[in-house]
Amino acid sequence: MAAQAEFIWFNGELMPWADAKVHVLSHAIHYGSSVFEGVRAYNTPKGPAIFRHQEHTQRLFDSAKIYRMKVDVTAQQIMDATKEVIRANKLNNAYIRPVIFYGDIGLGLRVKDDAKTDVSIAAFEWGTYLGDDALEQGVDVGISSWNRLAANTMPTGAKAGGNYLSSQLIGQEAKRHGYQEGIALDINGYISEGAGENLFIVKDGKLLTPPTTAAILPGITRATIMHLAQQRGIEVVEQSLPREALYLADEIFLTGTAAEVTPVRSVDGIQVGCGSRGAVTTTLQKDYFDLVKGVSEDKNGWLDYVE
Ligand code: PMP
Repeated sequence: MAAQAEFIWFNGELMPWADAKVHVLSHAIHYGSSVFEGVRAYNTPKGPAIFRHQEHTQRLFDSAKIYRMKVDVTAQQIMDATKEVIRANKLNNAYIRPVIFYGDIGLGLRVKDDAKTDVSIAAFEWGTYLGDDALEQGVDVGISSWNRLAANTMPTGAKAGGNYLSSQLIGQEAKRHGYQEGIALDINGYISEGAGENLFIVKDGKLLTPPTTAAILPGITRATIMHLAQQRGIEVVEQSLPREALYLADEIFLTGTAAEVTPVRSVDGIQVGCGSRGAVTTTLQKDYFDLVKGVSEDKNGWLDYVE
């Protein structure tokens, strides 16, 4: 893999990017047995700060707990190591990717309770996830023919490697049909989420979003946006939403650590609202960037400064 930064933290030590390797028979490669996070650090007036670092780390450990993975490092060690990687790579803005996985433990599908896990943390620069114009112009999305996972098949509340096969099917199909992203319905036919983003609808001044029962990953950006909306006096409702709610929305936007706050300008070729970034989306997007970049006051202690 082409080097995107100088160093990676792998099982307790910083090493050159090119040296952070695993064996081809690693369990995670064959069975998707990894849990991971996508975290961002933004340059603020007080230097780089990792946004909601604690919550991301907690979700990483929650994902490991769901899969009964034994993790030999503590949350604090992961957080300290993350800062170390950012500093070593001299990054001001960073996309951070911690992953806990079963590596060289043999190919037996059933993992022993005390099986060793490997841990790595990469940090590198990564621009706008859905394209350079996406944050301003919005993206065109299509409803996927693939549903999200049923609740009793694989837990969507865990951010696990294997789940992303579902996301790949959704994303690939969208691209094939000329969209930038795909939106999946849950198995009951209600709106779930994008391949790698949560979804919000603005309708009659309210913010609507699918509940956690709609097979979504409970996104940290989603929680942040709900908080920012409430601060603005915008009512937020978590409710089951039928597909046509997308066609009749005043505004739609996607949220995610990578995707940040990305407006949606059309769904299945039907224009959303005015066909560009709407007023509520503009406000919340600005509030989000002001917060993560340390422009507005960090009232909740969500910025973890690297220095
Ligand atoms: N859903 C899925 C499937 C995702 O991969 C992501 C990205 N982590 C999200 C939602 C958004 O989550 P977050 O805001 O915590 O990044």
